[in-house]
Amino acid sequence: MEQHIIYLDNNATTVMHEDVIEAVHEAHILYGNASSMHGLGRASAQAIEESRLAIADLIDCSPKEVIFTSGASEANNTVFSTIRERIDLGSKRDRMITTTIEHPSIIETVKYLKSRGYKIDECPVDGTGMIDLEAFKTLLGEDVALVSVMTGNNEIGTIQPIREIAQLSHAVGALVHTDATQAIGKIEVSMREMDVDYLSLSGHKFYGPKGIGVLAVKTKAPFSPLVHGGHQEGGRRAGTYNTASIVGIGVAARLAKADLQEEHDRLWSLREMLREGIEESIPNVVVNGNQQHCLPGTLDVSFPHAEGESILLYLDMEGIMVSTGSACASGSLEPSYVLLASGVDIELAHGSIRFSFGRYNTADDVAYVLEKLPPIIKRLREMSTR
Ligand code: PMP
Repeated sequence: MEQHIIYLDNNATTVMHEDVIEAVHEAHILYGNASSMHGLGRASAQAIEESRLAIADLIDCSPKEVIFTSGASEANNTVFSTIRERIDLGSKRDRMITTTIEHPSIIETVKYLKSRGYKIDECPVDGTGMIDLEAFKTLLGEDVALVSVMTGNNEIGTIQPIREIAQLSHAVGALVHTDATQAIGKIEVSMREMDVDYLSLSGHKFYGPKGIGVLAVKTKAPFSPLVHGGHQEGGRRAGTYNTASIVGIGVAARLAKADLQEEHDRLWSLREMLREGIEESIPNVVVNGNQQHCLPGTLDVSFPHAEGESILLYLDMEGIMVSTGSACASGSLEPSYVLLASGVDIELAHGSIRFSFGRYNTADDVAYVLEKLPPIIKRLREMSTR
């Protein structure tokens, strides 16, 4: 008998949309180097420019502001290295601000830069993962070069007030970056509306290919390349164009834009169906993150007296794929730093599960999870010595 697969790990990555697969496949005939002047090169370059337009349309910026990268990790690193270079060149603005719940591609970059003596403050968040705006205001000052705050959190889904953060930051002359990787295709993301100088995203989070992303940089914002070499992307990011993946991310962007609101509402209703079902059928659960300002497909739940990894493995045996917030560090499982930073008790942080919905999930998936999950939690709690 074929095993049921219920994929509820769409924040980790998504399956490519069939139109994306087809477009990527077809784009492999575009083997000309997009920087070559002959016909084959020009055909590749044209396909890339069409994708650039699709991205610009999705995030509401100028196509000239779109730089293709290998993903959001590279895009995030490029922003921090741009600011680092300005500081190295003697800028009086020599401090950066970020938050305690950013993605590791920022958290680890910050850790590294701090170890090299750069000044970076991590603004705290409240119990729902929302930035503490009062604390943020006290951190702002004329010496701040960059403020970097994610649009929506990958683990608990909390959506930050980026426009307000940008206005406060610009008022003191700081540049603003947002890592919008998890928000793309789920909520409206407008670079103009949010008024940010830099924005990162990654193709595989919205049914595009892996290994392709974008850093959008406002025309007047400072910029230094991370990858030096050829003249691709106007000298802003060297390396032969990954034409097929760029075509793929362009198709994914058009698909995301086409039914954004509809998909948002559908994801939210599935998420709410699961949340209500869990709260009705399992005693003593805690829903993490901000419930008013939340990415529509993300549901993070703690099950006290049941460990996250055990729940994950039991669900996996039933064909249900989810995630925990833990990181495997030197053989021991560390609780989620996002939950700890939000002030969640360490035991609750150990027993958290992230369900993340996507385009291909249905109400039947929710019903299946609600059939399998309660007995798993019951069994684990019975086994627990606590
Ligand atoms: N930022 C966020 C918020 C993410 O969720 C991810 C992917 N987990 C990234 C950045 C990094 O994206 P990539 O691995 O595609 O570079």
